[in-house]
Amino acid sequence: MGFRVEQDCPQCGAPTELDETDHLVQCPYCNIKNFLFTSNYFRHVLPHRAQNKEIFYAPYLRFKGNVYFCMGRTIGHRFVDITHTGLSLKGIPISLGLRPQVLRMKFVTPETEGSFLKFSLKATDILMRAGNLSSGPGSRQLFHRAYIGETLSLIYLPLYLQGTRLYDGVLNRPISNVPVEHDVMAESIVRNPRWKVTFLPTLCPQCGWSLDGERDSVVLTCSNCETAWEAATGKFMQVNYEGIPEECEQSVCLPFWRIRAFGRGLELNTFADFIRLTNQPRVVRKEMENQEMSFWTPAFKIRPRVFLRLSKGLTLSQEGLQTHKVRLKENLYPVTLPQSEAAQSIKIILASCALSKKNILPRLPRISFTVKDSTLIYLPFTIKGHEMIQERTNITMNKNTLEFGRRL
Ligand SMILES: [Zn+2]
Ligand SMILES: [Zn+2]
Repeated sequence: MGFRVEQDCPQCGAPTELDETDHLVQCPYCNIKNFLFTSNYFRHVLPHRAQNKEIFYAPYLRFKGNVYFCMGRTIGHRFVDITHTGLSLKGIPISLGLRPQVLRMKFVTPETEGSFLKFSLKATDILMRAGNLSSGPGSRQLFHRAYIGETLSLIYLPLYLQGTRLYDGVLNRPISNVPVEHDVMAESIVRNPRWKVTFLPTLCPQCGWSLDGERDSVVLTCSNCETAWEAATGKFMQVNYEGIPEECEQSVCLPFWRIRAFGRGLELNTFADFIRLTNQPRVVRKEMENQEMSFWTPAFKIRPRVFLRLSKGLTLSQEGLQTHKVRLKENLYPVTLPQSEAAQSIKIILASCALSKKNILPRLPRISFTVKDSTLIYLPFTIKGHEMIQERTNITMNKNTLEFGRRL
């Protein structure tokens, strides 16, 4: 269970409560659906009980998700679930502990009263330490890491000063006996933040029909004009989708991202390049020299082991997956992993496909990828008992690994 956020419905004002991973919110009173959007991080405040005090909010980095890494000759992953202080201020707690679980957070809005202390630590350092990935003496060399998160946000802890002592505004208790210098506090304060959350009504930008999606969907679909939309830059942007038409009719279709990316620091334009680079025991055929390389990942959240297995399996079998325009079915499995997050995994997929890890892993720090385009691909899976089989590639997965077991 994630943290809960209190938010009034922007249409009727009724109080609603949502999970920190929710993107699509339907008001239980007026039934209006809104998509929540923010330009970078979602920012939340914890409620304070300090009457008539000048509140200073201290930032905490909230991350829940998986850190994937390439270290030595292995590829691994670790689950990280933290709220870690984002500044150096003597006496304040390193973590928020249970507070966010017990309390209901609110979004920071331009109306939130108080001042905000600057997030001055480096988020990547915090995540590295949390994932236990700091390279110390004796540790294997870390070549690459990627954070694929469920939640990345900032939570603010309310503080106030009484005399020279710093108080925790949630508990109304002094948190440090060390006197705080007012100047230090004043210097690092960011005033009048313009952070806000935008509520986008979930109407199809093309035809005005109501879009379909789940609470944690990041792509919404229109069953009227058969289009798909991702909230990317404060508005809904159309997403191209394809599938395998004849097979999509009877099977369960799961969404995947097919990402074409331009690589620097390596020769990787075609599928043939990929076969050679990763030392696959396959004959490079002429068609492969003309087939543009793409990386495949699930477009839904799934356990890291399965995520890697599916990504590797589909990326290696892309030749056999000729896709075309399809009609959107009803009850599609929701897209819960944004394309931008999926693209974070490209180097990890490359590493996991490589047969000779020692040829590829040490090169990763000098390699970079820029996404050219990405397409949502609905791939049919046939259910046989507890297994789901992608018949063209023979890739199987256990039905129960689909996190929410939705409608299957
Ligand atoms: Zn409402
Ligand atoms: Zn439409």
